[in-house]
Amino acid sequence: MVDARNHEEELAALRWQLEMNALDAVSEAPVDRFTLSDKRPAKRGNARRTRLASSRRGTVADARQAARSAPDLPSLRSAIEAFGGCPLKAAARNTVIADGNPAARVMIVGEAPGAEEDRLGRPFVGPSGQLLDRALSAIGLDRNAEDPAKAVYITNIVFWRPPNNRTPTPDEMALLLPFTERHIELARPDILFPLGNVACKSLLRTDTGIMKLRGQWRQWRASMGDVSVPALPSFHPSFLLRTPSAKRLFWQDLQSLRDRLAEQEGSRDG
Ligand code: URA
Repeated sequence: MVDARNHEEELAALRWQLEMNALDAVSEAPVDRFTLSDKRPAKRGNARRTRLASSRRGTVADARQAARSAPDLPSLRSAIEAFGGCPLKAAARNTVIADGNPAARVMIVGEAPGAEEDRLGRPFVGPSGQLLDRALSAIGLDRNAEDPAKAVYITNIVFWRPPNNRTPTPDEMALLLPFTERHIELARPDILFPLGNVACKSLLRTDTGIMKLRGQWRQWRASMGDVSVPALPSFHPSFLLRTPSAKRLFWQDLQSLRDRLAEQEGSRDG
């Protein structure tokens, strides 16, 4: 009989190795080492390496073509799921694309899935997501609301969890940006709420850090076509968890967001 505790320990050890990005621990094909005695040692994990090398070959042009061919949100979801050009995908459990109401007036863009998001396949469901939900409810917004005026739609710049929760590299961000741009074009929110350095810098195409950028309304413009959406850069909720004193500024940003929504509504009615 299999010892359940040993089995759990083995699984935990394997998960830990994946977390450390140790993808080459086991070769996919058996190696007869007796026949290799006078040759150079066999390279372990060749098949895996070849597969990863080919998955590294995705270019921004590939991503742009896949993203632009999607005529609607369900096709965009399928295009992202089918995209093999990002090496992060190999170590992730799930592709994490979006949550909330796609018809919402507000679209939130975060950085990348964490452990809980990777496990459940939905963005912002871990501790930072819980803080975000509480903050949004303070201005009457809720990701589960059916009414687009009260709802939010949530995505990330990166769809696969980076190992050990590291920050996505500039190459990873640039590679996946065409998908998020298309996502915004198809969802057509009234307001974008990018959170943290990764989302703000890549969407607003700036090197200015979040400390300076936050709270200042900008205009997000699609790199192709003429879609343009007002955007309010703000802090990432995981920064707020580490730095509770920054919640005061985040609260100011939330109020600014609420006021802008009301203004837009007023000018539509009037
Ligand atoms: N942090 C993010 O930026 N996105 C998530 O989905 C979770 C944590």
